[in-house]
Amino acid sequence: MNDKRIDPSPSCKDDFDPESLDCDSARRRILDSVSPVRGFERLALRSALGHVLTEDISSPIDVPSHTNSAMDGYAVKGDDLLESDFHEFKLVGTSLAGKPWPGKVKSGQCVRIMTGAVMPKGADTVVMQEHVKREGDKVLIGPYQKPGQNVRKAGEDLSVGQLVLPSGRRLTPADLGLIASLGLAEVTVYRRLRVAFFSTGDELRSMGEPLKTGEIYDSNRYTLYGMLKKLDVELLDMGVIRDAPDALRNAFQTASSSTDVVISSGGVSVGEADYVKETLNELGEVNFWKVAMKPGRPLTFGRLGEAVFFGLPGNPVSVMVTFYQFVLPALRKMMGEKCPSPLTVKARCLSKLRKRPGRTEYQRGILETAKNGELVVRKTGNQGSGILRSMSEANCFILLDKDSAGIDEGALVDVQPFSSFFQD
Ligand code: AMP
Ligand code: MG
Repeated sequence: MNDKRIDPSPSCKDDFDPESLDCDSARRRILDSVSPVRGFERLALRSALGHVLTEDISSPIDVPSHTNSAMDGYAVKGDDLLESDFHEFKLVGTSLAGKPWPGKVKSGQCVRIMTGAVMPKGADTVVMQEHVKREGDKVLIGPYQKPGQNVRKAGEDLSVGQLVLPSGRRLTPADLGLIASLGLAEVTVYRRLRVAFFSTGDELRSMGEPLKTGEIYDSNRYTLYGMLKKLDVELLDMGVIRDAPDALRNAFQTASSSTDVVISSGGVSVGEADYVKETLNELGEVNFWKVAMKPGRPLTFGRLGEAVFFGLPGNPVSVMVTFYQFVLPALRKMMGEKCPSPLTVKARCLSKLRKRPGRTEYQRGILETAKNGELVVRKTGNQGSGILRSMSEANCFILLDKDSAGIDEGALVDVQPFSSFFQD
Protein backbone atom coordinates (compact mmCIF):
# COMPACT_ATOMS: atom_id res chain seq x y z
CA MET A 1 0.00 0.00 0.00
CA ASN A 2 1.34 3.42 -0.86
CA ASP A 3 -0.61 6.15 0.95
CA LYS A 4 0.56 9.55 -0.35
CA ARG A 5 -1.04 11.37 2.60
CA ILE A 6 1.62 10.02 4.92
CA ASP A 7 4.70 12.22 5.01
CA PRO A 8 7.57 10.00 3.88
CA SER A 9 10.25 12.00 5.77
CA PRO A 10 8.75 13.11 9.07
CA SER A 11 12.02 12.84 10.96
CA CYS A 12 13.64 15.81 9.21
CA LYS A 13 10.52 17.95 8.91
CA ASP A 14 8.66 17.50 12.15
CA ASP A 15 9.96 20.67 13.77
CA PHE A 16 8.27 22.81 11.10
CA ASP A 17 4.55 23.02 11.58
CA PRO A 18 2.60 25.60 9.61
CA GLU A 19 -0.27 25.44 12.13
CA SER A 20 1.94 26.47 15.06
CA LEU A 21 2.13 30.07 16.24
CA ASP A 22 5.59 31.40 16.99
CA CYS A 23 6.25 32.10 20.68
CA ASP A 24 6.18 35.90 20.46
CA SER A 25 2.85 35.94 18.63
CA ALA A 26 1.37 33.46 21.10
CA ARG A 27 2.50 35.58 24.06
CA ARG A 28 1.14 38.73 22.43
CA ARG A 29 -2.21 37.08 21.72
CA ILE A 30 -2.46 35.93 25.31
CA LEU A 31 -1.50 39.31 26.80
CA ASP A 32 -3.84 41.18 24.42
CA SER A 33 -6.79 39.07 25.51
CA VAL A 34 -6.42 39.38 29.29
CA SER A 35 -6.90 42.42 31.53
CA PRO A 36 -6.50 43.18 35.25
CA VAL A 37 -9.24 41.78 37.48
CA ARG A 38 -11.87 44.17 38.70
CA GLY A 39 -12.10 44.40 42.47
CA PHE A 40 -9.84 45.96 45.06
CA GLU A 41 -9.18 45.35 48.70
CA ARG A 42 -7.74 47.48 51.43
CA LEU A 43 -5.08 45.55 53.31
CA ALA A 44 -2.96 46.11 56.38
CA LEU A 45 0.57 46.79 55.18
CA ARG A 46 2.09 43.42 56.12
CA SER A 47 -0.71 41.47 54.44
CA ALA A 48 -0.09 43.42 51.23
CA LEU A 49 3.34 41.85 50.60
CA GLY A 50 3.32 40.38 47.07
CA HIS A 51 0.04 42.10 46.14
CA VAL A 52 -0.24 44.73 43.42
CA LEU A 53 -1.05 48.39 44.12
CA THR A 54 -4.17 49.83 42.45
CA GLU A 55 -3.15 53.41 43.15
CA ASP A 56 -0.05 55.57 43.16
CA ILE A 57 1.47 56.13 46.58
CA SER A 58 2.81 59.63 47.10
CA SER A 59 4.65 60.74 50.19
CA PRO A 60 2.55 62.60 52.78
CA ILE A 61 5.70 63.68 54.64
CA ASP A 62 9.37 64.42 54.20
CA VAL A 63 11.57 61.37 54.88
CA PRO A 64 13.57 61.90 56.99
CA SER A 65 11.33 64.48 58.56
CA HIS A 66 14.25 66.33 60.21
CA THR A 67 17.83 66.99 59.27
CA ASN A 68 19.83 64.52 61.36
CA SER A 69 23.26 63.06 61.95
CA ALA A 70 24.62 60.19 59.83
CA MET A 71 27.30 59.38 62.45
CA ASP A 72 28.02 59.21 66.14
CA GLY A 73 30.14 62.31 66.79
CA TYR A 74 29.99 66.04 67.47
CA ALA A 75 27.78 68.64 65.80
CA VAL A 76 29.45 71.98 65.07
CA LYS A 77 29.24 75.05 62.85
CA GLY A 78 31.12 74.20 59.63
CA ASP A 79 32.57 77.72 59.50
CA ASP A 80 34.43 77.08 62.78
CA LEU A 81 36.53 74.24 61.38
CA LEU A 82 40.13 74.97 60.53
CA GLU A 83 41.36 73.48 57.30
CA SER A 84 44.73 72.24 58.50
CA ASP A 85 44.84 72.67 62.26
CA PHE A 86 43.23 71.49 65.47
CA HIS A 87 40.53 73.61 67.02
CA GLU A 88 39.08 73.43 70.50
CA PHE A 89 35.30 73.44 71.05
CA LYS A 90 33.23 73.60 74.21
CA LEU A 91 30.75 70.77 74.72
CA VAL A 92 27.32 72.25 75.56
CA GLY A 93 24.88 69.35 75.28
CA THR A 94 23.84 65.99 73.85
CA SER A 95 21.36 65.15 71.08
CA LEU A 96 20.14 61.51 71.04
CA ALA A 97 17.92 59.76 68.47
CA GLY A 98 14.41 60.65 69.61
CA LYS A 99 15.71 63.17 72.20
CA PRO A 100 16.83 66.36 70.46
CA TRP A 101 18.94 69.00 72.20
CA PRO A 102 16.74 72.07 72.47
CA GLY A 103 19.41 74.80 72.41
CA LYS A 104 21.23 76.62 69.64
CA VAL A 105 24.91 75.95 68.87
CA LYS A 106 27.07 79.06 68.89
CA SER A 107 30.48 79.61 67.36
CA GLY A 108 33.12 77.60 69.27
CA GLN A 109 30.54 75.22 70.76
CA CYS A 110 29.74 71.60 69.95
CA VAL A 111 27.02 69.10 70.83
CA ARG A 112 27.54 65.38 71.32
CA ILE A 113 25.27 63.75 68.72
CA MET A 114 24.26 60.17 67.87
CA THR A 115 23.28 58.64 64.51
CA GLY A 116 19.70 59.62 63.62
CA ALA A 117 19.52 62.40 66.24
CA VAL A 118 18.13 65.77 65.13
CA MET A 119 20.80 68.33 64.23
CA PRO A 120 20.66 71.13 66.78
CA LYS A 121 19.90 74.63 65.56
CA GLY A 122 23.03 76.50 64.50
CA ALA A 123 25.01 73.33 63.64
CA ASP A 124 25.41 72.07 60.08
CA THR A 125 28.33 69.62 60.30
CA VAL A 126 29.10 66.41 62.22
CA VAL A 127 32.64 65.29 63.03
CA MET A 128 33.06 61.54 63.63
CA GLN A 129 33.97 60.71 67.20
CA GLU A 130 37.08 58.88 65.93
CA HIS A 131 38.47 62.26 64.70
CA VAL A 132 38.14 63.98 68.06
CA LYS A 133 40.04 64.18 71.35
CA ARG A 134 37.94 64.90 74.38
CA GLU A 135 38.78 65.95 77.91
CA GLY A 136 35.76 66.74 80.06
CA ASP A 137 33.82 69.44 78.22
CA LYS A 138 36.78 70.31 75.99
CA VAL A 139 36.67 68.78 72.50
CA LEU A 140 39.66 69.01 70.17
CA ILE A 141 38.75 68.54 66.51
CA GLY A 142 41.44 67.73 63.92
CA PRO A 143 41.98 69.13 60.42
CA TYR A 144 40.62 67.98 57.02
CA GLN A 145 36.93 68.01 57.97
CA LYS A 146 34.45 69.27 55.37
CA PRO A 147 31.72 71.73 56.37
CA GLY A 148 28.28 70.08 55.88
CA GLN A 149 29.62 66.51 56.20
CA ASN A 150 27.83 63.54 57.82
CA VAL A 151 24.42 65.17 57.82
CA ARG A 152 21.22 63.68 56.37
CA LYS A 153 18.97 66.43 55.05
CA ALA A 154 15.21 66.47 55.76
CA GLY A 155 13.40 65.04 52.70
CA GLU A 156 16.56 63.66 51.09
CA ASP A 157 15.01 60.15 50.82
CA LEU A 158 11.49 61.32 49.91
CA SER A 159 9.93 64.78 49.85
CA VAL A 160 6.26 65.67 50.47
CA GLY A 161 4.09 64.89 47.41
CA GLN A 162 6.78 62.85 45.65
CA LEU A 163 5.59 59.70 43.83
CA VAL A 164 6.94 56.81 45.85
CA LEU A 165 5.38 53.72 44.24
CA PRO A 166 3.20 53.64 41.11
CA SER A 167 -0.02 51.67 40.68
CA GLY A 168 0.71 48.27 39.11
CA ARG A 169 3.66 47.73 41.44
CA ARG A 170 3.95 44.31 43.13
CA LEU A 171 5.01 45.04 46.68
CA THR A 172 8.44 43.77 47.75
CA PRO A 173 9.95 43.67 51.25
CA ALA A 174 11.75 46.96 50.49
CA ASP A 175 8.41 48.50 49.45
CA LEU A 176 6.79 47.49 52.77
CA GLY A 177 9.57 49.30 54.60
CA LEU A 178 9.28 52.33 52.33
CA ILE A 179 5.52 52.58 52.87
CA ALA A 180 6.01 52.09 56.62
CA SER A 181 8.52 54.97 56.58
CA LEU A 182 5.66 57.18 55.34
CA GLY A 183 3.50 56.13 58.29
CA LEU A 184 0.87 54.48 56.06
CA ALA A 185 -0.78 51.51 57.78
CA GLU A 186 -2.94 50.28 54.86
CA VAL A 187 -2.79 50.15 51.08
CA THR A 188 -5.27 49.39 48.30
CA VAL A 189 -4.40 46.38 46.14
CA TYR A 190 -6.04 44.25 43.47
CA ARG A 191 -8.11 41.40 44.84
CA ARG A 192 -6.54 37.95 44.72
CA LEU A 193 -6.82 36.05 41.48
CA ARG A 194 -8.82 32.81 41.61
CA VAL A 195 -7.26 29.94 39.70
CA ALA A 196 -8.62 26.40 39.21
CA PHE A 197 -6.33 23.62 38.06
CA PHE A 198 -6.60 19.94 37.32
CA SER A 199 -4.79 17.07 35.63
CA THR A 200 -6.30 14.86 32.95
CA GLY A 201 -5.44 11.24 32.19
CA ASP A 202 -6.72 7.74 32.87
CA GLU A 203 -3.17 6.63 33.69
CA LEU A 204 -2.79 9.05 36.62
CA ARG A 205 -2.87 7.88 40.21
CA SER A 206 -2.64 9.85 43.43
CA MET A 207 -0.06 9.25 46.11
CA GLY A 208 -0.85 6.32 48.38
CA GLU A 209 -2.47 4.35 45.55
CA PRO A 210 -0.48 1.40 44.15
CA LEU A 211 0.53 1.66 40.47
CA LYS A 212 -0.74 -0.92 37.99
CA THR A 213 1.05 -1.50 34.69
CA GLY A 214 1.20 1.72 32.65
CA GLU A 215 0.05 3.94 35.49
CA ILE A 216 2.02 6.88 36.87
CA TYR A 217 1.68 9.29 39.75
CA ASP A 218 0.24 12.71 38.97
CA SER A 219 3.09 15.18 39.32
CA ASN A 220 1.76 18.09 37.28
CA ARG A 221 -0.65 19.22 39.98
CA TYR A 222 2.30 19.53 42.34
CA THR A 223 4.52 21.59 40.06
CA LEU A 224 1.51 23.76 39.18
CA TYR A 225 0.65 24.15 42.84
CA GLY A 226 4.23 25.19 43.57
CA MET A 227 4.36 27.80 40.82
CA LEU A 228 0.91 29.18 41.61
CA LYS A 229 1.60 29.29 45.33
CA LYS A 230 4.54 31.62 44.70
CA LEU A 231 2.07 34.08 43.17
CA ASP A 232 -0.23 33.95 46.17
CA VAL A 233 -3.37 33.32 44.13
CA GLU A 234 -6.49 31.64 45.52
CA LEU A 235 -6.33 28.01 44.42
CA LEU A 236 -9.02 25.51 43.53
CA ASP A 237 -7.34 22.10 43.10
CA MET A 238 -9.80 19.90 41.22
CA GLY A 239 -7.72 16.72 41.22
CA VAL A 240 -7.48 14.29 38.33
CA ILE A 241 -10.15 14.22 35.61
CA ARG A 242 -10.70 11.09 33.51
CA ASP A 243 -10.12 11.09 29.74
CA ALA A 244 -13.84 11.19 28.97
CA PRO A 245 -15.72 14.03 27.29
CA ASP A 246 -18.45 14.08 29.96
CA ALA A 247 -16.00 14.23 32.84
CA LEU A 248 -14.08 17.01 31.12
CA ARG A 249 -17.24 19.00 30.40
CA ASN A 250 -18.21 18.80 34.07
CA ALA A 251 -14.75 19.86 35.17
CA PHE A 252 -14.67 22.78 32.74
CA GLN A 253 -18.03 24.03 33.96
CA THR A 254 -17.27 23.72 37.66
CA ALA A 255 -13.82 25.26 37.25
CA SER A 256 -14.94 28.28 35.25
CA SER A 257 -18.05 29.07 37.31
CA SER A 258 -16.11 30.64 40.17
CA THR A 259 -12.62 31.45 38.95
CA ASP A 260 -10.70 33.88 36.75
CA VAL A 261 -8.34 31.31 35.25
CA VAL A 262 -8.60 27.59 34.52
CA ILE A 263 -5.45 25.55 33.94
CA SER A 264 -5.47 21.91 32.85
CA SER A 265 -2.62 19.61 31.94
CA GLY A 266 -2.63 16.73 29.47
CA GLY A 267 -5.09 15.75 26.78
CA VAL A 268 -4.10 18.48 24.32
CA SER A 269 -2.15 16.38 21.83
CA VAL A 270 -3.84 14.75 18.87
CA GLY A 271 -4.15 11.31 20.44
CA GLU A 272 -7.38 9.34 20.65
CA ALA A 273 -8.10 10.31 24.25
CA ASP A 274 -7.22 14.02 23.93
CA TYR A 275 -10.48 15.89 24.39
CA VAL A 276 -9.39 19.20 25.90
CA LYS A 277 -9.35 21.34 22.75
CA GLU A 278 -12.59 19.80 21.55
CA THR A 279 -14.32 20.49 24.87
CA LEU A 280 -13.05 24.07 24.94
CA ASN A 281 -14.37 24.57 21.43
CA GLU A 282 -17.75 23.25 22.53
CA LEU A 283 -18.12 25.19 25.81
CA GLY A 284 -15.95 28.21 25.13
CA GLU A 285 -13.62 29.57 22.52
CA VAL A 286 -10.24 28.34 21.27
CA ASN A 287 -7.80 31.17 20.47
CA PHE A 288 -4.88 28.95 19.44
CA TRP A 289 -3.74 25.42 20.19
CA LYS A 290 -0.22 24.96 18.94
CA VAL A 291 2.97 26.94 19.53
CA ALA A 292 6.28 26.48 17.71
CA MET A 293 8.21 25.65 20.86
CA LYS A 294 10.00 22.74 22.45
CA PRO A 295 9.01 21.37 24.81
CA GLY A 296 5.31 22.24 24.84
CA ARG A 297 4.01 22.46 21.29
CA PRO A 298 0.41 21.48 22.04
CA LEU A 299 -0.67 24.46 24.16
CA THR A 300 -4.35 25.37 24.00
CA PHE A 301 -5.38 28.88 24.92
CA GLY A 302 -8.85 30.38 24.92
CA ARG A 303 -11.85 31.46 26.98
CA LEU A 304 -14.28 29.51 29.05
CA GLY A 305 -17.16 31.85 29.93
CA GLU A 306 -15.62 34.67 31.99
CA ALA A 307 -12.48 32.66 32.70
CA VAL A 308 -9.25 32.49 30.75
CA PHE A 309 -8.32 28.92 29.84
CA PHE A 310 -4.88 27.33 29.46
CA GLY A 311 -4.71 23.72 28.34
CA LEU A 312 -1.10 22.84 29.09
CA PRO A 313 0.54 19.74 27.65
CA GLY A 314 0.80 16.61 29.79
CA ASN A 315 4.54 16.09 29.82
CA PRO A 316 5.91 17.28 33.16
CA VAL A 317 8.65 19.54 31.75
CA SER A 318 6.29 20.99 29.13
CA VAL A 319 3.87 21.98 31.89
CA MET A 320 6.53 24.02 33.63
CA VAL A 321 7.96 25.60 30.50
CA THR A 322 4.56 26.65 29.14
CA PHE A 323 3.57 27.95 32.58
CA TYR A 324 6.65 30.15 32.91
CA GLN A 325 6.58 31.36 29.31
CA PHE A 326 2.85 31.93 28.77
CA VAL A 327 0.68 31.50 31.86
CA LEU A 328 2.83 33.52 34.25
CA PRO A 329 2.91 36.76 32.19
CA ALA A 330 -0.88 36.48 31.76
CA LEU A 331 -1.49 35.93 35.48
CA ARG A 332 0.76 38.84 36.36
CA LYS A 333 -1.14 41.12 34.01
CA MET A 334 -4.48 39.88 35.40
CA MET A 335 -3.20 40.54 38.93
CA GLY A 336 -2.77 44.18 37.90
CA GLU A 337 0.98 44.18 37.48
CA LYS A 338 2.52 46.24 34.72
CA CYS A 339 4.32 43.29 33.17
CA PRO A 340 8.07 43.42 33.35
CA SER A 341 9.81 40.85 31.11
CA PRO A 342 11.92 38.27 32.89
CA LEU A 343 15.62 39.04 32.98
CA THR A 344 17.66 37.58 30.11
CA VAL A 345 21.44 37.43 30.39
CA LYS A 346 24.21 36.22 28.09
CA ALA A 347 26.31 33.32 29.30
CA ARG A 348 29.02 31.18 27.77
CA CYS A 349 27.64 27.73 27.08
CA LEU A 350 29.83 24.86 28.25
CA SER A 351 27.73 22.22 26.45
CA LYS A 352 27.13 21.56 22.80
CA LEU A 353 23.38 22.00 22.26
CA ARG A 354 21.65 20.05 19.55
CA LYS A 355 18.59 21.52 17.89
CA ARG A 356 16.72 21.51 14.61
CA PRO A 357 15.35 24.74 13.12
CA GLY A 358 11.60 25.25 13.35
CA ARG A 359 10.78 25.74 17.05
CA THR A 360 12.01 27.98 19.86
CA GLU A 361 13.65 25.78 22.46
CA TYR A 362 13.78 26.22 26.20
CA GLN A 363 16.57 23.90 27.27
CA ARG A 364 17.24 23.52 30.97
CA GLY A 365 20.56 24.76 32.27
CA ILE A 366 22.66 25.45 35.32
CA LEU A 367 23.94 29.01 35.36
CA GLU A 368 26.88 29.95 37.53
CA THR A 369 29.78 32.32 37.82
CA ALA A 370 33.07 30.77 36.71
CA LYS A 371 36.31 31.37 38.64
CA ASN A 372 37.29 34.08 36.12
CA GLY A 373 34.04 35.93 36.88
CA GLU A 374 32.32 35.00 33.63
CA LEU A 375 28.73 33.70 33.59
CA VAL A 376 28.68 30.16 32.26
CA VAL A 377 25.86 27.71 31.65
CA ARG A 378 25.65 23.99 30.96
CA LYS A 379 22.65 21.86 30.15
CA THR A 380 21.12 19.48 32.65
CA GLY A 381 21.48 16.07 31.02
CA ASN A 382 18.70 14.49 28.99
CA GLN A 383 16.35 17.19 27.71
CA GLY A 384 13.31 14.96 27.10
CA SER A 385 9.99 16.62 27.95
CA GLY A 386 9.20 13.85 30.41
CA ILE A 387 12.47 14.17 32.37
CA LEU A 388 11.38 16.33 35.29
CA ARG A 389 14.79 15.92 36.88
CA SER A 390 16.24 18.15 34.12
CA MET A 391 14.00 20.89 35.48
CA SER A 392 14.65 20.20 39.14
CA GLU A 393 18.44 20.38 38.66
CA ALA A 394 18.21 23.51 36.52
CA ASN A 395 18.20 27.13 37.64
CA CYS A 396 17.58 28.67 34.21
CA PHE A 397 16.26 28.21 30.70
CA ILE A 398 18.72 28.35 27.81
CA LEU A 399 16.86 30.09 24.98
CA LEU A 400 17.46 28.89 21.45
CA ASP A 401 15.84 30.80 18.60
CA LYS A 402 13.30 29.22 16.32
CA ASP A 403 15.74 29.27 13.41
CA SER A 404 18.80 28.12 15.34
CA ALA A 405 20.36 24.81 14.30
CA GLY A 406 22.07 24.28 17.66
CA ILE A 407 25.21 25.78 19.13
CA ASP A 408 28.76 24.69 19.71
CA GLU A 409 30.48 24.51 23.06
CA GLY A 410 31.89 27.93 23.98
CA ALA A 411 29.24 30.03 22.19
CA LEU A 412 27.36 32.82 23.97
CA VAL A 413 23.68 32.03 24.63
CA ASP A 414 20.68 33.85 26.09
CA VAL A 415 19.68 32.55 29.48
CA GLN A 416 16.62 33.23 31.65
CA PRO A 417 17.27 32.61 35.38
CA PHE A 418 14.27 31.01 37.10
CA SER A 419 14.73 33.47 39.95
CA SER A 420 13.64 36.29 37.64
CA PHE A 421 10.18 34.78 37.14
CA PHE A 422 9.04 35.63 40.63
CA GLN A 423 9.87 39.05 41.98
CA ASP A 424 11.09 39.15 45.55
P1 AMP B 1 -0.99 13.84 27.14
O1 AMP B 1 -0.77 15.26 26.76
O2 AMP B 1 -2.22 13.63 27.96
O3 AMP B 1 -0.91 12.96 25.95
O4 AMP B 1 0.23 13.44 28.08
C1 AMP B 1 1.55 13.44 27.60
C2 AMP B 1 2.45 12.67 28.56
O5 AMP B 1 2.47 13.30 29.82
C3 AMP B 1 2.00 11.26 28.83
O6 AMP B 1 3.15 10.43 28.92
C4 AMP B 1 1.30 11.34 30.15
O7 AMP B 1 1.28 10.13 30.85
C5 AMP B 1 2.11 12.39 30.87
N1 AMP B 1 1.29 13.08 31.85
C6 AMP B 1 0.09 13.64 31.62
N2 AMP B 1 -0.41 14.18 32.73
C7 AMP B 1 0.50 13.98 33.71
C8 AMP B 1 0.55 14.31 35.09
N3 AMP B 1 -0.44 14.98 35.67
N4 AMP B 1 1.64 13.97 35.79
C9 AMP B 1 2.66 13.29 35.19
N5 AMP B 1 2.66 12.95 33.89
C10 AMP B 1 1.60 13.27 33.14
MG1 MG C 1 -3.41 12.16 28.52
